[in-house]
Amino acid sequence: MSAYKITEHKYDMIVVGAGGAGLRATFGLAEKGLKTACISKVFPTRSHTVAAQGGIAAALGNMGEDNWRFHFYDTVKGGDWLGDQDAIEYMCKNAPAAVIELEHQGVPFSRTEDGHIYQRPFGGMTTHYGQGTAQRTCAAADRTGHAMLHTLYQQALAHDATFFIEYFAIDLVFDADGACRGVLALDMAEGTLHLFRAQGVVLATGGYGRAYFSATSAHTCTGDGGGMVLRAGLALQDMEFVQFHPTGIYGAGCLITEGVRGEGGYLTNSQGERFMERYAPSAKDLASRDVVSRAITIEIREGRGVGEHKDHAYLNLMHLGPEVIHERLPGIAESARIFAGVDVTKQPIPILPTVHYNMGGIPTNYHGEVVQKKGEDNDAVVQGLYAIGEAACVSVHGGNRLGSNSLLDLVVFGRAVAHRCADTIKPDAPHKELPADALDKALARFDRLRNANGELSTAQIRLDMQRTMQADAAVFRTGDTLKEGCTKIDKVHASFEQVHVSDRSLVWNSDLIETLELSNLLDQAVATMHSAEQRTESRGAHAREDFPDRNDAEWMKHTLVTVDEGGKTAFDFRPVHLYTLTDEVDVVPPKKRVY
Ligand SMILES: Cc1cc2nc3c(=O)[nH]c(=O)nc-3n(C[C@H](O)[C@H](O)[C@H](O)COP(=O)(O)OP(=O)(O)OC[C@H]3O[C@@H](n4cnc5c(N)ncnc54)[C@H](O)[C@@H]3O)c2cc1C
Repeated sequence: MSAYKITEHKYDMIVVGAGGAGLRATFGLAEKGLKTACISKVFPTRSHTVAAQGGIAAALGNMGEDNWRFHFYDTVKGGDWLGDQDAIEYMCKNAPAAVIELEHQGVPFSRTEDGHIYQRPFGGMTTHYGQGTAQRTCAAADRTGHAMLHTLYQQALAHDATFFIEYFAIDLVFDADGACRGVLALDMAEGTLHLFRAQGVVLATGGYGRAYFSATSAHTCTGDGGGMVLRAGLALQDMEFVQFHPTGIYGAGCLITEGVRGEGGYLTNSQGERFMERYAPSAKDLASRDVVSRAITIEIREGRGVGEHKDHAYLNLMHLGPEVIHERLPGIAESARIFAGVDVTKQPIPILPTVHYNMGGIPTNYHGEVVQKKGEDNDAVVQGLYAIGEAACVSVHGGNRLGSNSLLDLVVFGRAVAHRCADTIKPDAPHKELPADALDKALARFDRLRNANGELSTAQIRLDMQRTMQADAAVFRTGDTLKEGCTKIDKVHASFEQVHVSDRSLVWNSDLIETLELSNLLDQAVATMHSAEQRTESRGAHAREDFPDRNDAEWMKHTLVTVDEGGKTAFDFRPVHLYTLTDEVDVVPPKKRVY
């Protein structure tokens, strides 16, 4: 049917994404003898994982008492009881082995005096079920993601996997039974289309932070995996839960790691007051992120913001001294100098809560298999489709992710999905026939966008979307602003009909790629705004001023949302898993969340 020439490739497994999650899965699959291809739109070591600063959580107990059960408790509580406790148990129990594995693979962790992996305190991480402060976050100075990603890429190269770099995955391909059997991708350098066929596809495409105006995430974080899943008619989960990191640099949006507060940094308002003491008397500056972001927002609102417009707050680390800063936080000192013009040994850093992480995403079980609700079955597996990392919603982070739990999520579930596939997929198994029209829809859409000749530039529509999300799906939300937000974002979504792509070439056409990315972002922006509008309670990062309390009786459930071609949403729900996999840890029953 198509005017495009399509090159076909056959593998046992395809991984889309070469961030921490995708790389861990890729070499895990190759190690198990599955012929694996990894497709990435950017060079692997440019994936957003490279920017992770603070560290990776694991109850190693190198710097004081710790236990994976404390980590389990903190993660359940941090997620405000929306996380699935079976998956949280799996992650926290496997964390120490995952970090030791990284150490053996070559991650250059910072060290204690006696040579153990250095661990720093992070928000919401405690000992004895909320009593003490845990030092649980394993760090390579303030460049942990950089160290991890380079190590994982080296591991992947050491195994027999094939990389397709600067290939842009456009859409998923399904067989007649609805099982996912491949992806359609564009080789951006050559301008050629490729069909990658496989027994299954792992989506490791990262978050969609760029739906917002100010985000700590890279420009490549456009949620392409989530967009593909929605176009396949499948649901995304818990999209209303967007994490604002308390300390993005004011104006620039770049991240200042929570590790700064872990090392003893603290926040102040215009009166020089350490205001977190009022909001979280025991954890103070190390309360969980949603709590700290709300506190800063309230301080600003009540007139105690700093600067000319009284619209931000200060993060102080002068008292730590140049030595600690140089050894533990060198990258932060550099970012503050470049992006805020501040010498952190002498001045505080101007900061503002900034979009940082998507707790929501493609729903999966703890094996990384994508699940949907089908009739009575709340966890019906979609054959051949897997998701891991920030693109996925396992859900281990529930309504709010604890800092340093994402890097952990990447390696634990990257490994888990490889194990699952090794157990269920035979190397070199024959490929099932694809229906003749398997690519028709994807190709038609690609061709339409490529030739889009409307009146609006991609950049204009993207800015409209980002402004709307920033204004109406913010740290605090109300019914009125969300209703207005829904109307506005629906309009922006509809305006995509009018998009204009100026370059008709297929070779290095950034206008076309940004348009494909915008289309993915738009569907998820709509999903986020409408999901937030329908959840009439406050939980984790979703803070409704008109419904200030958590409502477990009605809302302890995962939101499932689909978005059709016209941008119309439909909702369903899955129960939260209030059970564990073993008797080694007790379920944490819901209670009030205080720090
Ligand atoms: C500044 C910053 C600091 C952070 N610090 C920490 C921290 O200290 N500790 C912590 O636990 N978490 C931290 N996080 C969160 C954590 O780093 C991310 O959640 C995590 O790295 C995401 O990894 P990922 O593998 O899921 O995706 P990414 O690393 O974002 O990689 C996505 C991959 O998918 C590929 N891709 C996407 N779309 C396509 C497509 N259409 N076709 C082909 N390829 C595609 C990209 O090329 C890329 O390789 C931080 C996040 C940020 C933004």
